[in-house]
Amino acid sequence: MTTNQLHQQAWQFRQIGLSWAEIAMRLGFRGESGARTAANRYAESQGFAHDYVHPPQAGRRKNRTFGTELEFIDAKRDDVAVAIEQALASLGSAQTHVAVVEYHGKTCIRRNCNCGGIRINGKKEWRVERDGSVSNGEHGGEIVSPILRGKEGLKVLTAVIKHAKMVDDIAVDRRCGLHVHLGTSDMTGLQRANVVRQWWKHQIETIDPMIVKRRRNRENQYCFRPSDDEFNNWIQAIERSGRGAGYQERTRSLNVTSFPKYGTLEVRQHEGSLNATKVCAWVQFLVAFFDHAKAMEHDEVPVGLAALDALQQLGRIDVETVTYLKQRTVALA
Ligand SMILES: [Zn+2]
Repeated sequence: MTTNQLHQQAWQFRQIGLSWAEIAMRLGFRGESGARTAANRYAESQGFAHDYVHPPQAGRRKNRTFGTELEFIDAKRDDVAVAIEQALASLGSAQTHVAVVEYHGKTCIRRNCNCGGIRINGKKEWRVERDGSVSNGEHGGEIVSPILRGKEGLKVLTAVIKHAKMVDDIAVDRRCGLHVHLGTSDMTGLQRANVVRQWWKHQIETIDPMIVKRRRNRENQYCFRPSDDEFNNWIQAIERSGRGAGYQERTRSLNVTSFPKYGTLEVRQHEGSLNATKVCAWVQFLVAFFDHAKAMEHDEVPVGLAALDALQQLGRIDVETVTYLKQRTVALA
């Protein structure tokens, strides 16, 4: 191995999440600093940013974070906020006030709300937002979750959906989407690029069949299937900078522009729904899919329904969710 190859190998090991100590041991450097210097030399030679990403630490793995945006029509946003407050109260949640905000707004504009137009914390609080594509006056919008994770997160999401569903006139139609943000700050650039690579591999045969036909391919302008060129460009940009490209189009089935802003990749493909089982199954699939892509097990998972079995065998998704998703795929065929 030449010196350059050694430097490149150190960098590559770092990208897939090895510790500096582990890289030093594998490549024969005397210590961590030798491994770090080698990786950074390679990064410099290629014009890449230095890699200071800390690899995930064994034994301290937390469930992947997620956030949801549930679009709805016809119901008053103020009424939906009240329903969410009831859902949160039923769980004894710390959040007792649910704001209604403008699109990407930060302060509550709910009528007669006793909060006095309080500024909200979007990472920690549920809110109801106006949304250009589904709002009509005070009616319609999206329920935006805070950062959620694990079983506890799905439990809150379920309660919120069940309460929202009981609001007068609330409905979901073909204009509505369900957007899911998956936290990817725990990933290195190569791992994040691998999520894109896996999405590309599974888009048509695994993912599309779980989604209504009108949101596959290029049927819907808000969740277009990326072109092969786009997929390629994203992968290269993310591998190069570790961040991905803010200038890309966001209205794709997979939106990579959310990473520089929020540390997430956003999946926009699913149709709007106020069916808690359906929404939670999709979220669980996505968490499993992202975890799998991060772990670089890509050669083990075939496309199609077999992907669900493989993810289950890898222990990333439970059998009930797999059964549900398979039934849905068959029903949508
Ligand atoms: Zn308020």
